[in-house]
Amino acid sequence: MKKIITDRPDKIYAETIIVGGGVVGCAIAYELASRGQDVLLLERSAIAGGTSCAAAGMLAADSEDFAHPLIAKLARQSRQLLIEQQVLMATLSEVETGLQHQGFLTPFRSYSELSSYKDNRKSALSASADEVWWDRSVVQQEASWLNRDTYGAYYRPYESEILPVHLTKAYAESAQVLGARVMEDIQDIRVQANEHGVQGITTSIGEMKCKHVIIAAGLQSEELMRHVNLSLPVWSVKGEIAAVQFSDEHAGYRPDRTVYAEDIYIVPKANGEVWLGATSLPGRTDLNVSVQGVQKLLTAATHWVPGMKEAQFIRAWAGVRPATPDGLPYIGACKSIPGLFAAFGHYRNGILLSAITGRLIAELLAGKSSEELGIEALSPERLNRKGVVQ
Ligand SMILES: Cc1cc2nc3c(=O)[nH]c(=O)nc-3n(C[C@H](O)[C@H](O)[C@H](O)COP(=O)(O)OP(=O)(O)OC[C@H]3O[C@@H](n4cnc5c(N)ncnc54)[C@H](O)[C@@H]3O)c2cc1C
Repeated sequence: MKKIITDRPDKIYAETIIVGGGVVGCAIAYELASRGQDVLLLERSAIAGGTSCAAAGMLAADSEDFAHPLIAKLARQSRQLLIEQQVLMATLSEVETGLQHQGFLTPFRSYSELSSYKDNRKSALSASADEVWWDRSVVQQEASWLNRDTYGAYYRPYESEILPVHLTKAYAESAQVLGARVMEDIQDIRVQANEHGVQGITTSIGEMKCKHVIIAAGLQSEELMRHVNLSLPVWSVKGEIAAVQFSDEHAGYRPDRTVYAEDIYIVPKANGEVWLGATSLPGRTDLNVSVQGVQKLLTAATHWVPGMKEAQFIRAWAGVRPATPDGLPYIGACKSIPGLFAAFGHYRNGILLSAITGRLIAELLAGKSSEELGIEALSPERLNRKGVVQ
C-alpha cells in the first residue's frame, strides 16, 4: 500500500479525516475521492488488517435475515452499487476483487426443516421475489455435488461474493488514484472537539486539522467515541472460518455456487479455495481457532457436500464482528458534536454494506440530512434517546 506523508504532521490539513482502514473506511474514502473531496484516511496498522481480513466476502442481500427492513433495502442497493463500482475500480486499481455472481443455494434436509425456516425467517423483511424453489430432482440436476438426500433448496440467482481483502485494497488504491491520502501505522488517535464541534485530531506523530472526522474503526470505534464523551456500544462476536481446496482429480465435487445453509455457508472463491464459515461466539475477542470450531464447520460442510472429504484442508482463521445492541450499524452525524460522523457496527454484513455506507456518508457530508436519506434508524445517538445507554 502506497503511503503518502508529504508534510510535517502539524501542517497536515484535510477537509475530511477518516479513522480506520477496513472495508468501511476505505469505501468511504473511495466515494469521497470520486466526488473530488479532500480526504485523508488514517489506519493504526495496515489497510484491511482488522475484521475485514477475516470475512467470507458474501454479498448476501437476498439470503440474510436482517434486523430491520431498512437494512434489507440498503443491502440490495449496496450489492448493486458495489457491482457498478467494480467496473470503475478495475480501471483505477490493479487489485482484482474476485467478484463472482453464481447465486446462493439454501438447502433443507426435510419438509419440517423447510417449514421451521419459513416460520423463523423474518421473511417480510428480506424475502426476495428473486428466489426460486428447487425440488429434489432439480437440486440433483443443477447441483450434483450437493447431498443427494437434500429435500429441496431455494436458489437466489443474484447473490454474489467477493474477496474481502482485495475489495478493501481496491477501494483504498482507487481512492488514492483519485487524490485521497492514506497513512498507515498512525497510533494514538484522539478526536479534538470543543463546543463549536470538531477541530481535528491528535496522533502519535502530531496534530492534524480538519472539518469532519469519520470514525470507521470497527470494534475500536466505541473507545474513540468515548474520548469525546459519546457512548456508542460495540459488542464483539467472534467467528471462525476455514479454507479447503479441491485437486483437479476431485474437481467434480467442488461446489460451483455458494451454499448458504442454516448451519454453515460454503463459498467457492475466485482464488480457487472454498471457504467454510462461520462459528458465532458472542463476547469473545481473541483470534484463536479451536478444534471444536473447525470440527463443527467440517461436519456441516461434509454433510452438505459429501465430496468435501476429498478436499485438502488449507488453513483456518478467526475474526471479531462489530455488533451493536439493536443489530443496526451506526451511520450518521453525531448531533452533539458538529463535524463528527459514525460509520461502524456493521456486524456480519460490513463487506456487503460497505458501498452504501460510503455513499450515505458522502451524501451527509454534502449537506443531506439523515431524514432526507431515510436513515434516521441508523442515527448514532438513537440508543441514548431510547434510554438503552446512559
Ligand atoms: C468470520 C467472519 C465472516 C464474515 N463474513 C462476512 C460476509 O460474508 N459478508 C459480509 O458482508 N461481512 C462479513 N463479515 C463481517 C465483516 O467482516 C465486518 O462487518 C467488516 O469487516 C467490518 O468492517 P470495518 O471496516 O467496520 O472494520 P475493520 O475491518 O475491523 O476495520 C477497522 C479498522 O480500523 C482500524 N483501527 C481501529 N482502531 C483504530 C484507531 N484508534 N486508529 C486508527 N485505526 C484504527 C483497525 O486497525 C482496522 O483496520 C464477517 C466477519 C467475520 C468475523
